[in-house]
Amino acid sequence: MKTLIIHLIFSLVFILLFAPVTFSERIFFIAPDAGIVQEVLPEKLQKAWYPDGITPEVFHTSYITYNIAYSDPVGLGFNDPNHPNRKRCLEAALTYISNIFRTFGTIDILVETSEYDGTGAIAFAGSYVFENQETFSRCFSQLRLLNGTKPVANVSEIQLTVDFGRNYYEDPDHTTPASNQFDLLSVLIHEFTHGFGFLSFVEQDGRTNVTPNGKYLYTVFDQFIYKGDLALFSGSPPAFQGVPSDTTSNQLVFKSIFIQNFFGNSGLAIYSKDPFLDGTSLNHWDPFRTGITNAVMNPTYTAGSTIREYSLADLCALKSIGYSNILLADNEGTQEGAKEGIVEGTQEGTAEGAREGTHHEGFQEGNIEGIDEPTDSICGCAKSQSIRKFIFDLILLGMVLLLISQKKYKAENK
Ligand SMILES: [Zn+2]
Repeated sequence: MKTLIIHLIFSLVFILLFAPVTFSERIFFIAPDAGIVQEVLPEKLQKAWYPDGITPEVFHTSYITYNIAYSDPVGLGFNDPNHPNRKRCLEAALTYISNIFRTFGTIDILVETSEYDGTGAIAFAGSYVFENQETFSRCFSQLRLLNGTKPVANVSEIQLTVDFGRNYYEDPDHTTPASNQFDLLSVLIHEFTHGFGFLSFVEQDGRTNVTPNGKYLYTVFDQFIYKGDLALFSGSPPAFQGVPSDTTSNQLVFKSIFIQNFFGNSGLAIYSKDPFLDGTSLNHWDPFRTGITNAVMNPTYTAGSTIREYSLADLCALKSIGYSNILLADNEGTQEGAKEGIVEGTQEGTAEGAREGTHHEGFQEGNIEGIDEPTDSICGCAKSQSIRKFIFDLILLGMVLLLISQKKYKAENK
């Protein structure tokens, strides 16, 4: 009997102390143009995907039904009655994307409280991913639209923040911004395209953040990034196949069957200049190498110009990452007619925003990696969970020992 009890105690101690800490699947958010990468902590989520007191507006298009929650208070930002065209620009961007994707479904968009500081990113949007399991992660907007189910009930699929401290051209019906104005509709199409999956978590060393579960965050987009013939990210689960200097080699390209059909076997240049720019590198084309100055997903916005239609390059990439109903025929013409040289023009852009590292109040509690808090803030939750588990285990162990000693005491006193 005594040996059995000792065995039991040892087994219990072993199980309690060494059993693997179990976590649910981790979720991360990314907004490339602001360099934001952060974990979504379940305990910080609200009950619904939109803030308390806000009723999302339902916006129907031919294919996609958008539920849009505008967080701005009445009188400000998108809810400013003096700027009725702000919402019209946003809806025009979403209508355009719907008509290009030609995929039926629903998307929830959280438009965060607008900014007015006029610094950092002009605007930024992004989506969420589950950590990698066997393969590349689709972001939440892709999961919702392509798989047909809402990934997490109380998380939006796309989140957007606009800095109205910039001089915006807010007319969706005309295309004549002044030379010092940013075309809001162009900016929103760019941002929503990140939100629909034109995004990568890859950092300078070729890896993404490692989640507290020890998993990476490679996206569907990453699987098309090549250096020469080497698919930089591959395997199951996906892993980095190159060397750290690859991300600043100025040689990375996007390769897929569609891109290669139209642009040749060597693919199309992805921004991979030195120095590495968080949120810009690997998240945009490199117009210097592609020669395409009017691509929506070029890395900078040019004041005074409009880019309200995808270039063939953008369309090919979007079709590659899963929006298979996109039509590519007859789109060659969009490559021509570059409105204004993005490369040479007055630039104020996303790259700059990432470098400046301005604080953005857009998301949860601002764990903006490498900006507001040290990088390990992403793992804070896991650490505290481990400590909690350890304390819990100690208490359990104490109770078990107490029970045994009481039993023993009773037995001895019989
Ligand atoms: Zn961007």
